[in-house]
Amino acid sequence: MNRRKFIQNTALTGAGIATGVAAMSCKEVPEEKDIAVSTTKSISKSSYISISTWDTSSANNASGELLAQGKPALDAIIAGVAVEEANEENTTVGIGATPDREGNVTLDACVMSPDGDYGAVLAVENIVHVAALARKVMEETPHVIMASKGAEEFAYTQGFKKQKLLTPASEKAWKEWLKTSNYQPAINVENHDTIGMLAMDSSGDIAGVCTTSGLGYKMKGRVGDSPIIGSGLFIDNEVGAAVATGMGEEVLKTVGSFLVVELMRNGMSPQKACEEAIHRIVKKGDRYKDFQVAYIAMNKTGETGSYAIHKGFNMMKYQNENAEVIISDYYNK
Ligand code: ASP
Repeated sequence: MNRRKFIQNTALTGAGIATGVAAMSCKEVPEEKDIAVSTTKSISKSSYISISTWDTSSANNASGELLAQGKPALDAIIAGVAVEEANEENTTVGIGATPDREGNVTLDACVMSPDGDYGAVLAVENIVHVAALARKVMEETPHVIMASKGAEEFAYTQGFKKQKLLTPASEKAWKEWLKTSNYQPAINVENHDTIGMLAMDSSGDIAGVCTTSGLGYKMKGRVGDSPIIGSGLFIDNEVGAAVATGMGEEVLKTVGSFLVVELMRNGMSPQKACEEAIHRIVKKGDRYKDFQVAYIAMNKTGETGSYAIHKGFNMMKYQNENAEVIISDYYNK
């Protein structure tokens, strides 16, 4: 399935929220009537919830199913995103991801645990499961960020396999791109989609992860927001969590995910907090018309929210054995 097409359940409710894991079909773009802002729900201590960016239902359902078995949030999210990191057809994470303009596939990832610990890897080559590697940095080293060759060498010491990430398909697409070398990240096009996933387990603990190849055909060495604490991802287990996707340069300049969590700390709902973080970007001038940024967030009572600059963003949600696609509201109407 093309990642740019929306996975949408055939059984839309009146509110436009799709529910149920089975019988999903594709839809090019959301209709205005289908746009649904996340509902406010209080969940009990024994409940659990997993949300993720874009149409990453296979990853989000894998995480949700582990939560349903009582697994900790941190284990669930790492296993969840691993599904898509291993999917060669997903051109934005893991194997098969779009390379930089010199043909190198370099991956970024980070993870945060309920106790506020953090680990990240930047610009790593030849390793598929960089989210799991970020967890190793968090748990097995005295550091929080490892980059490039050092991160790759560390991976081998932890038993990760060396694997070529440039597939015949991604190489072919890159060679095609080279014919014009036109670098123009387009809104909602596959050259910028991160999997960001947030989960609350049945103990009420929250963890989050971000994994990406960053912007397609980026300059060699470019790193975006996704592996950077507070920008691509932030968790405060007393308050909630947020994760970003889209034009990383803009998320970095507004420390977006930290902002969303701080706004929730000060009483905003996840939905309102995501909206305010997007407003911080768009109020800087007209440039927002040319790029997409989106946030998803959850708080400790199980409320969720999502908001984007432009139409075309959606969030996956898995709760109580129920998978939903939530088509996000957006600013530029
Ligand atoms: N935020 C990522 C980056 O800038 C890309 C994306 O989410 O689409 O690297």
